[in-house]
Amino acid sequence: MKAFYAEEQKRHDPKAFLSSGAPQPNPEKPERVERLLAGARSAGLTIERPKEHGLGPVAAVHTPEYLDFLEHIFARWQRIEGASAEVIPNIHPIARNGSYPASAVGQAGYHMADTACPISAETWNSALWSAWSAVEAAEAVMAGAPSAYALCRPPGHHAFADVAGGFCFINNSAVAAQVLRRNAARVAILDVDLHHGNGTQGIFYARPDVLTVSLHADPVRFYPFFWGHADERGKGAGLGYNFNLPLPRKSGDAAFLEALATAFRRIRAFAPEALVVALGLDAFEGDPFGGLSVTTPGFARIGEAIAGLGLPTVIVQEGGYLCDALGDNLTAFLTGFGGKRG
Ligand SMILES: [Zn+2]
Repeated sequence: MKAFYAEEQKRHDPKAFLSSGAPQPNPEKPERVERLLAGARSAGLTIERPKEHGLGPVAAVHTPEYLDFLEHIFARWQRIEGASAEVIPNIHPIARNGSYPASAVGQAGYHMADTACPISAETWNSALWSAWSAVEAAEAVMAGAPSAYALCRPPGHHAFADVAGGFCFINNSAVAAQVLRRNAARVAILDVDLHHGNGTQGIFYARPDVLTVSLHADPVRFYPFFWGHADERGKGAGLGYNFNLPLPRKSGDAAFLEALATAFRRIRAFAPEALVVALGLDAFEGDPFGGLSVTTPGFARIGEAIAGLGLPTVIVQEGGYLCDALGDNLTAFLTGFGGKRG
């Protein structure tokens, strides 16, 4: 299986993060890349550098004012006297029925959902290369590869069309799905990250051509709180094309695989021509977020089960945080998937 990653993706190095109001070191560390690269190589993948793909594939799922914000906000922020070293919002519109703010502080609040996605000098470039890795993997599959892996970091599934959040800036899984849509009438996105893929859901919520399915820890007491509930089913033409499977906290392999079987029924009924797997590894029992209890062999079974769908598949890295087994969990998933599918 081909795999894509660019060195620039490692330069984004967020420092701050508020967890239950308390300042903590940001867990989306560059070191994640080393663990994931080692995990991919252990599964026999060779890592290739993606080409540059410009803004087109990114602008296909994000608004121009948001992309302009992401590219330029850091330089603007530096001109504010006494501002923090990283761009971090401190005021948000409670609803989007006011005016679009002109100021950097106002726009940070408008375009950033939370404090988990600080923007520094390298963020835009890292996020863009991360998205290009996803584009390259999607194009490899369109060119006939049965599957491809994009080591996307920073991750993407919490990013909406015009809002960053939860360590995410550009929605790499959505970008990959939209690229696949050039050749495929219907694309499904299956998100197995610990957290609900709220940004991905938001981007495709009113569309019937991209089915969004997410398995995740029940958001009733877990990030992202406002999204990920079972009654969110899409709207307008997209009604019935969004499917959430929230799981009780600490659910293990058996419950996860059972929910996956339910997800597969919905995906098969949709009859997609291609699949994007939003592969978070933070459902692991030893992940610092501690939300679910999937084991390392469990990831192999999840990979094998997804391969059983028999679809051209782009695997996009989402979450999964520093713990001893992070690389092993990726190896397990890719080996399980590849053993069945190649
Ligand atoms: Zn996650």
